[in-house]
Amino acid sequence: MPELPEVETTRRGLAPHLVGRRVEGVVLRRPDLRWPIAAEIAQRLPGQRIEAVRRRAKYLLIDTAAGSALVHLGMSGALRVIPAATPARAHDHADVLLDDGRALRFTDPRRFGCLLWQAPGETHPLLADLGPEPLSAAFGGEHLVARARGRGAAVKSFLMDQAVVVGVGNIYAAEALFAAGIDPRIAAGRVSRTRYSRLADELKRILRRAIRRGGTTLRDFTDPDGAPGRFEQELLVYGREGERCRRCGGLLRGARIGGRASAFCPRCQR
Ligand SMILES: [Zn+2]
Repeated sequence: MPELPEVETTRRGLAPHLVGRRVEGVVLRRPDLRWPIAAEIAQRLPGQRIEAVRRRAKYLLIDTAAGSALVHLGMSGALRVIPAATPARAHDHADVLLDDGRALRFTDPRRFGCLLWQAPGETHPLLADLGPEPLSAAFGGEHLVARARGRGAAVKSFLMDQAVVVGVGNIYAAEALFAAGIDPRIAAGRVSRTRYSRLADELKRILRRAIRRGGTTLRDFTDPDGAPGRFEQELLVYGREGERCRRCGGLLRGARIGGRASAFCPRCQR
């Protein structure tokens, strides 16, 4: 599943191809993805000039004066800019035709993604109650301390709560907790201020590094067969339960926390 670094990498890869282009038309090959595709995508986008490509949490916003296309990649979605005449294949659900003869093509085999609409000056309900961006100045140890007060949920579930901080999925929650030496099972309200400060710093460091590593070439976004690069940093705990800890050599354990598989090192994380 694309996490925040992959979505940000996608944004950076697409923006130079989209900003300033005029939308000449929209081709929808099915009426729905996870939810019905917003009618405005076909009705309002054509004729508009793309002003910006932004990211909020794991949503991409393609801004025009008439409103913004709100795109989520779901589990398996991908966006590419390709020659508009490229034949559509299975799972190529939507094309936004551009004035340079190319198209922004949305592909999503599992169809957990979405194509929605945000009117100018409004905030879509999906974006209304989100916490701060993890790489923004608004997010840090003090924010975590304030939000964790009195909370009995496991700190890993707390970190993945989009109302606390956005865009932190299972991979980055596991890796940040390992880097900060915090047992993912302990209650969020019992983690000290010092440890939350460390956790916030480690999370920012890991996300920044993942975005840098995810830095794919522009070709990856313009090749019909290409897929955006994935975070290839060596993961230290995620998906490694039963293997050796790369820091202490002990065995990593697995647990289910908030219904999610979670690996951690019982020696390094307390
Ligand atoms: Zn260890």
